[in-house]
Amino acid sequence: MADIIQLLPDHVANQIAAGEVVQRPASVVKELLENAIDADATTIKLIIKDAGKTLVQVIDDGKGMSVTDARLSFERHATSKIRSAEDLFHLHTKGFRGEALASIAAIAHVELKTKQEYDDVGSAIVIEGSTITSQEVVVTPKGTSVSVKNLFFNIPARRNFLKSNAVELRHVIDEFHRVTLSHPNINFVFYNNGSETFNLPRSNFRQRIVNIFGSKTNEKLVPVEEETEVLVISGFVGKPEFAKKTRGEQFFFVNDRYIKSPYLNHAISSAYEGLLKTGNHPSYFLKLTVDPQTIDINIHPTKTEIKFDDEHTLYALLRSAVKHSLGQFNIAPVLDFER
Ligand code: ADP
Ligand code: MG
Repeated sequence: MADIIQLLPDHVANQIAAGEVVQRPASVVKELLENAIDADATTIKLIIKDAGKTLVQVIDDGKGMSVTDARLSFERHATSKIRSAEDLFHLHTKGFRGEALASIAAIAHVELKTKQEYDDVGSAIVIEGSTITSQEVVVTPKGTSVSVKNLFFNIPARRNFLKSNAVELRHVIDEFHRVTLSHPNINFVFYNNGSETFNLPRSNFRQRIVNIFGSKTNEKLVPVEEETEVLVISGFVGKPEFAKKTRGEQFFFVNDRYIKSPYLNHAISSAYEGLLKTGNHPSYFLKLTVDPQTIDINIHPTKTEIKFDDEHTLYALLRSAVKHSLGQFNIAPVLDFER
């Protein structure tokens, strides 16, 4: 009898994990922006070339990394964000799986520069296909810069699978919208092929929406506010008359994370019942804040899906909050305490 099982070498395991985390340049954008947010940055710059196919770079002014951490950050399952499985239910960070940098470095050319506030010098690391090719001491500002070049250079099948620059850029911009909307208190700057495409100042949620989608958006927004023991709902829904044929501006966030939930999106759309022409889709920008113990984010590597303990209650609360804001309950005068 022959033994045939082998442990995969790290670089192979990383490449397999990368398949789940990194589908396209926009996935790199998401992971790097989220790392910058988790580092408490106040200004974050995103630089891309050729829709991110040749370069995605994120520069932040966050807390940076020590020399040792800089090297460790590229190991799989290396994270400063959780220490035990229990921590998964008290998450206050975007990241926790410790696999983004390891995955990205397995399938691209990555350069990291980082420095902590009170260190005199920082470190620079070059890593290509999971192999560190240089690590040196450098003079660099406080914070972190990560450049990701030549995505999928060693996986031609994936590289060929990428869509046109126009399509990939659309994905990058969608991701940029999702992340910047969930953190209006951070200044984000976006350079596409050398020109500044967005410069979003620190502001509040409403102002951030307007800065992204244009000043005409302001008059279309109806505030939604609801607070119960289990959740806080806040944000804006678009007035019904501004609904569109395309499902464009629909944003749903849970604890400052953009989430895809067809079920809860239905709760929101269904609140517009009777108010929309058939085939039209409403715009909305809604934030849900719930106790982290009542959700599970660890059901998919990209963390855009979530499991709620009690989805049915959320559905009902969301629907009624949106209905209320749209004035459905005000057709006949209703006293405050009856609501
Ligand atoms: P995760 O975010 O899930 O922890 P990553 O692979 O994205 O995993 O990052 C690994 C670790 O590297 C993080 O836990 C963090 O300590 C460090 N790190 C990554 N990016 C930054 C950054 N921009 N600033 C400071 N530390 C960072
Ligand atoms: Mg991360």
